[in-house]
Amino acid sequence: MISKYRFRQQPVNSWRQRDNDRQRLVGEKKFEERTRRIFYDTDGIHESQTEQNRLCQHCAGAWQIDSTSDRGYRILAVHIPRKACKTCRQLGYDWLDAADPDAYHFIFMQDRVKDEFVQIGDH
Ligand SMILES: [Zn+2]
Repeated sequence: MISKYRFRQQPVNSWRQRDNDRQRLVGEKKFEERTRRIFYDTDGIHESQTEQNRLCQHCAGAWQIDSTSDRGYRILAVHIPRKACKTCRQLGYDWLDAADPDAYHFIFMQDRVKDEFVQIGDH
């Protein structure tokens, strides 16, 4: 084609490089953390939750939710997904072991690999 503009070859490599960079960033980001506030209409309770989810390339990733209500009630929930990889599964147990039972009214952990769960606390 003829044009007054001088065309150059598309710098394919730079795009490829960008993709690589993005992949590298995702690879380095090990956890996704979200905080949200929930209001329970019926009880008039405000709850604030911090969710941590391990970003894993091999499974859905273990997660934990630490929630505190404005009544001072604090709960920890740890979840190991079905078909969790070894690392995520171990992480779930590590989270459980690391949690101070005195800091929570209630700790709940679910291991979907074995379909087992444990409850620690006053209920
Ligand atoms: Zn995993």
